[in-house]
Amino acid sequence: MNLLEIRDLTVHFGGVKAVDGVSFDVAPGEIFAIIGPNGAGKSTIFNLISRIYKPTRGTIWFDGQDITGLKAQDIAPLGIARTFQNIELFDHSTVLDNLLMGRHTHRKTSFVQDALFLPKVRREERLHREKVEEVIEFLELEAHRTKMIAGLPYGVRKVVEIGRALAIGPRLILLDEPASGLSVEETQDVAFWIEDMRRDMGLTVLMVEHDMSLVTQVCDRVLAVANGRPLALGTPAEVQAHPDVQAAYLGT
Ligand code: ADP
Ligand code: MG
Repeated sequence: MNLLEIRDLTVHFGGVKAVDGVSFDVAPGEIFAIIGPNGAGKSTIFNLISRIYKPTRGTIWFDGQDITGLKAQDIAPLGIARTFQNIELFDHSTVLDNLLMGRHTHRKTSFVQDALFLPKVRREERLHREKVEEVIEFLELEAHRTKMIAGLPYGVRKVVEIGRALAIGPRLILLDEPASGLSVEETQDVAFWIEDMRRDMGLTVLMVEHDMSLVTQVCDRVLAVANGRPLALGTPAEVQAHPDVQAAYLGT
């Protein structure tokens, strides 16, 4: 069974069809990329999956459940985490606190239980900290853990943004342009982390990315979109060779 099934996904903003009849499946353990020119609708697909936008038409199934009608806050507890193209961290908090805040959107105890500080709450707090420490180690953020986000270089903030999503312990992670603005060396680190997310954490990865060498290196399959519409679906080599994809990129 597929982990994610998107069917005929469509959203109109006034007259603009930002996403128009997009269908694809992501299998468990797959690393899948959406590529396309700027304004193609890639981030909008992520905003539809994470329920920030409501589709005009179409359905989104996750792990056999129709999630099309759920609220945005119900998505993380199901095991879907995402990063944002424009990093969305708390600039005046530390790396550690940003990762813990990601966890707390995922809490299972009530405020009354919190106030009483029951054993269940203490146990949950310990699990939060353990997961966050695991993410800090995985992403090699140890040296930055108590630093304020605002003072960190862009490349490190990009990594913390990935960490915030990993900290919730998702089964599916949506990465919106994880390598944009990064150096060749930083991009290579991201490539290894994406592969290790699958190998060591058992994650399924859906990413939007412009860097085709990264896509070719790590992705099993690729969906190309332009003007909200699907152009081609297949292996990175198949999609890159597709005449419609070449035309969309070259504007011919
Ligand atoms: P991409 O991520 O592929 O570069 P986006 O998904 O961000 O593209 O945008 C696709 C199109 O949808 C663009 O024309 C953009 O202006 C439009 N769009 C996205 N979100 C909104 C919104 N909330 N309101 C109006 N238009 C939007
Ligand atoms: Mg985008």
